This record gives sequence, structure tokens and C-alpha cells, in this order.
Amino acid sequence: MSQKRKKIILVGGGFAGMEFAKKMSNSDYEILLIDKQNHHQFQPLFYQVACSMLEPASIIFPFRRMFQGTKNMEYRMATVLEVNDKEKFIVTDVGNFDYDYLILAQGCKTNFFGNEEIEKHALTLKSTQEAIKIRNHILSNFEAVLAVEGNERDEYLNIVIVGAGPTGVELAGSFAEMKNKILPKDYTFFDFSKLNIILLEGSPNTLNPMSDNARKASRKYLENMGVIIRTETVVKNYDGHEITLQSGETIPSRNVIWAAGVTGNKIEGLDKAIIVRGNRLTVNRLNLVAGYDSIFAIGDIAYMETPLYPNGHPQVANVAVNQAKNLAKNLLSLKPISNWKEYEYKDLGSMATIGKNKAVVDLPRWKFKGWFAWIVWMFLHLMLILTVRNKLIILINWAWQYFSSDSSLRVILSDPNKRK
Ligand SMILES: Cc1cc2nc3c(=O)[nH]c(=O)nc-3n(C[C@H](O)[C@H](O)[C@H](O)COP(=O)(O)OP(=O)(O)OC[C@H]3O[C@@H](n4cnc5c(N)ncnc54)[C@H](O)[C@@H]3O)c2cc1C
Repeated sequence: MSQKRKKIILVGGGFAGMEFAKKMSNSDYEILLIDKQNHHQFQPLFYQVACSMLEPASIIFPFRRMFQGTKNMEYRMATVLEVNDKEKFIVTDVGNFDYDYLILAQGCKTNFFGNEEIEKHALTLKSTQEAIKIRNHILSNFEAVLAVEGNERDEYLNIVIVGAGPTGVELAGSFAEMKNKILPKDYTFFDFSKLNIILLEGSPNTLNPMSDNARKASRKYLENMGVIIRTETVVKNYDGHEITLQSGETIPSRNVIWAAGVTGNKIEGLDKAIIVRGNRLTVNRLNLVAGYDSIFAIGDIAYMETPLYPNGHPQVANVAVNQAKNLAKNLLSLKPISNWKEYEYKDLGSMATIGKNKAVVDLPRWKFKGWFAWIVWMFLHLMLILTVRNKLIILINWAWQYFSSDSSLRVILSDPNKRK
């Protein structure tokens, strides 16, 4: 590689990082992607892995495979720990790397709001490994309950999801479908009608950030499927056996999935004054981190105020992808930074699926629900999935599930010698 090329270190190959890498491939920049995972993950379908509907391999993509044939891209598997901008290098767990420009796209992790007890005991859904852990845990739980008697059974028979945003709603809907359609076939000698899927939410609505249509429809769909929904309900603690609500009430459960919010992945060395709520990094409309001239932040980790979004953009894939596109375009233009194009988010809408033939879609001018919304949801997710191979695998899986109301993926892949 030519010595004159500017070196860009890209931290994180999520939605923002991958889009940036794609746009910069075969350009005159030398790009080093550093990610602690060796693959890109399609987070919107994690819940389908957790509920045994998709195999993990169909929603993840190895970076080295994706960069085959690109001449200016390198990948290193490492965790970035610290930035030293004075000397223009980053510190990772495998060594230090120099940069001319640093692009931070390290996204977020689950937010436990400082509660270490909940963090220790609850299940989470922010990585492929965590999705697999939920799958193993819930399936093992269905086996374990067969040997349990008396009150202790309630701990096994309550699946509690905390947070009724899209992730919580999608999980609750999928577990309800499993309860209603699959468990009676799999367990002919155990009555799983006693299984409770409980969805707890602090705000007054399910899908609170969406339209009134979507809130009402999602609630109705879930209730019709048998999900117990408790809104305006705040969780205070969870000790692995029992959830304690702020009201003092307790709910026994060994299966608590915490989907109540995210906070930025912290990297040391940056000026603390630019770190704002949710551990996000303050950036200007060029995604330049405040107070730095060669560090940019894109995606969930970036906090950008604009006239349309004075409190920052929503932490969604569309923002991440489009900030990455805008930054790549600006860097590739080779124009002075004063002539760069500013970013603004164009809201194309949001959607969530609740179950077979049940979804809600909010477009800027049209809000709809039901079968057509479900088809739109599936089509858009298939379009966004990388590689034709994965699109086909997912399509076949979904078609199979549609016609059979079943999936054949309910395998527990944890070590039997380490199970409690
Ligand atoms: C379960 C779930 C469902 C979702 N569903 C939707 C949806 O339906 N629609 C939607 O628009 N959005 C959805 N989102 C949100 C969406 O996934 C995020 O907005 C998007 O992933 C943000 O992209 P990003 O590139 O900023 O971060 P991410 O995609 O999170 O990528 C961050 C990357 O950085 C890496 N990384 C983190 N820390 C370090 C470090 N210190 N060193 C090295 N590497 C590091 C991670 O391994 C990861 O690969 C969902 C999120 C979740 C968790």
C-alpha cells in the first residue's frame, strides 16, 4: 500500500461501520476495521434466533469474507480500550494502532441503569451470543420444569420481558406463538397452557415511540395471543428467582429478559465533557466529535442535535447507515471540511412485527397493520440482510414456518456437563 494514503481506523462493524467500509472500499484511504467480534450482526432479527426461528449463521457475516477482493481494507479482531488523540493512536487488547482519522462506530450495550443485581441475573439481547444464550436458557427451562413440583414451578412457568419497545414486543409475540402452537405438539404430557408470557413496561404503552395506531394494535395483538401486559410498571430488582416491582409486588421467574434500553460502549481517553446522556458522544452535523479535528462518531454512539432533532436522533439502523454514507461521501470528496455536506435524518418510518400476519407499520403519511404490514416488514428485512445466500436461507425458513406453524431449530447447544 502507498505510504501517502491516509490511515483510517474504523471502530465497530455494525450498521454504521459496515456501510462506511462498503463506501470506502477500493478508495485511496487505507482502512483498518477493528471489531471485538469477527462478524457483522443483523440485530433486528436477534429475537428470531432467541426464539429458535432462525439459525445464528443466517444473520451474521464474517468480516474477512466480506472484505475479500478489496485492496484497502484490513480487519483485526480486538477490543478498543482507549484513544490517545495527541499522539494519534488507539490502545486495544492486542496492541496499539496509529491513525490519521478515527471513526468511532462502536454502538451501544444493554443499559441496566446501574443495577448490578439485574445485570448479573437477567438475560439480554445485544449480541448473537446473547440470542443463543436466551434460546438455550428457555429451551432448557422447558425441560427442567418437567422435574419440578409445587410453588417452585412458577419460577419456570413465567417468562418475563422487561421493556415493551420493538424488541420486547417481538420477543413476547414469538414466545406466545411458541406457547400456543409449538409446545403443545412438543410436550404432549405437560400442560404448557400454564406458561405465562409477561411483558412489563414503564411507560403507558407498548411501542411507546410509535403512533397511537401501532401502540393500540400491538397491545391488542399481544393480548389476543395471551401475553400478560403490564404498562406503567417499573422493575426495581431481580435476583435470579424473583422480580421486585417498584410497588413492592414480586413476580417469580427464572426467565427474565431485559430489553429496557441501551447505553453507549465507552472507550477511554476522550474528553469527558463531550460524553452526554446514554454515554453518547457529542458530534457536529459532519459527525466530527466536539473538540477534535480527526475523530468522527457515527451511528448509535453519536449524539447530534439538529433543528429537526434537537434532542438527538433515534438510535436506529437507518440513522447509522445514513450518517456513515454522508461521512464517507464527505471524505471521498477530498473537499476542505468547510465545504462538507451536513447530515440530517430523513425519517422513513418504523415498524414492528408481533407474530404471523401481525405487524404494525408507521410511514410518514400512512399507518397500517395486519397481514400487509407483516409482508412489508418481512420484505424490508430480507432486503437489508447481507448476501443472497442468507436472504434465501431466511426466506426458506420463514416459508416453512408459515405453512407448518413450526420450526425445527429447537436445539439446546450448551454443554450438558455445565448445566445446573
Ligand atoms: C434486539 C435489537 C433489535 C433491533 N431492531 C431494530 C429494528 O428493527 N430497526 C432498527 O432500525 N433498529 C433496530 N435496532 C437498533 C439497531 O440495531 C442499531 O441502531 C444499530 O445496530 C446501530 O448501529 P451501529 O453501527 O451504531 O452499532 P452496532 O450495530 O451496535 O455495532 C457496533 C459494533 O461495534 C463493536 N464494538 C463495540 N465496542 C467495541 C470495542 N470497544 N472495540 C471493538 N469493537 C467494538 C460491536 O462488536 C459491533 O460490531 C435493534 C437493536 C437491537 C439490540
